[in-house]
Amino acid sequence: MQAVVVPEAGGEFELVEREIPDPGPGEVRIAVEACGICHSDAFVKDGTYPGISYPRVPGHEIAGRVDAVGERVDRLSVDDRVGAGWHGGHCFTCEPCRRGDFQQCENGEITGLTYDGGYAEYATVPAEAVASIPDGLDAVDAAPLLCAGVTTYNALRHTDARPGDLVAVQGIGGLGHLGVQYAHAAGFETVALSRSSDKESLALELGADHFVNTAEHDPAERLQELGGASVVLATAPASEAISSVVGGLGTDGSVVVVGVPGEPVEISAQQLVGARSGVEGWASGHARDSQDTLEFSALRDIAPEIETYPLTEVSEAYERMLANEARFRVVLKPGGD
Ligand SMILES: [Zn+2]
Ligand SMILES: [Zn+2]
Repeated sequence: MQAVVVPEAGGEFELVEREIPDPGPGEVRIAVEACGICHSDAFVKDGTYPGISYPRVPGHEIAGRVDAVGERVDRLSVDDRVGAGWHGGHCFTCEPCRRGDFQQCENGEITGLTYDGGYAEYATVPAEAVASIPDGLDAVDAAPLLCAGVTTYNALRHTDARPGDLVAVQGIGGLGHLGVQYAHAAGFETVALSRSSDKESLALELGADHFVNTAEHDPAERLQELGGASVVLATAPASEAISSVVGGLGTDGSVVVVGVPGEPVEISAQQLVGARSGVEGWASGHARDSQDTLEFSALRDIAPEIETYPLTEVSEAYERMLANEARFRVVLKPGGD
């Protein structure tokens, strides 16, 4: 098969021929139809995540079909349409797993990071990391939903916000353009916050009720004028951007950070105490969360905006993602068209 490997930390992508891997016990092999390129793939490319062994095939936004089933897998069959995301499997025995909190597994695997991922024609994945893809959702659309989608959908549905509440999505990019669609579909009064005025028409098209250009207006002031936000979903990985919205929360409101800045975030404790508000974080979800995301997306016609590339153009595709030039998610198609 054809596969793209990162040969060593900081190395360039290499397109190589490899043996098609056989699924071990508890695993399935996926014939990859689409694999999203995510900013988190930089962990593998740059070697900035501890304990990665090289060469490594990146890719944790895998969509395709089950092509072979290992021993002890009864839920999945050949030809099932499936996907796999960041959550690449769990141990079933640690304390969080014993409590059914698989997302917080202390020995969790990460697709395309602790084992080879989807920048390839085939990938083997533990069965518990596999989500089913509903009919009517294309593989190329499903792929980014398995990371950017589940992250925003799952974060929003775990907040206390109810239909009609004011919910802001900060940053209209790969995560945010999905967050706006989910917030709208969930029945929230949805505010899009962005530094670029050219995102306004798109944000309104995606379902935002309000658009705030944060380069021109103080987002906290605008959110307070709208009544104070129950939730701000912070998708832009910029610490000042996160700081700037805390004052926009209403009573018991929450900033939920899903885009992770490299540097610490400065928070006014006075603002938190005054509004009894909070700043918290959320990371993606497990395979059933991913499947919920796919099912809800199919139900409400929610899809990512994507650009597709063949495996041979992986470097160019990755650079577009890294330079923030892609609109909005970049998807590899290992099988070609
Ligand atoms: Zn990702
Ligand atoms: Zn565990």
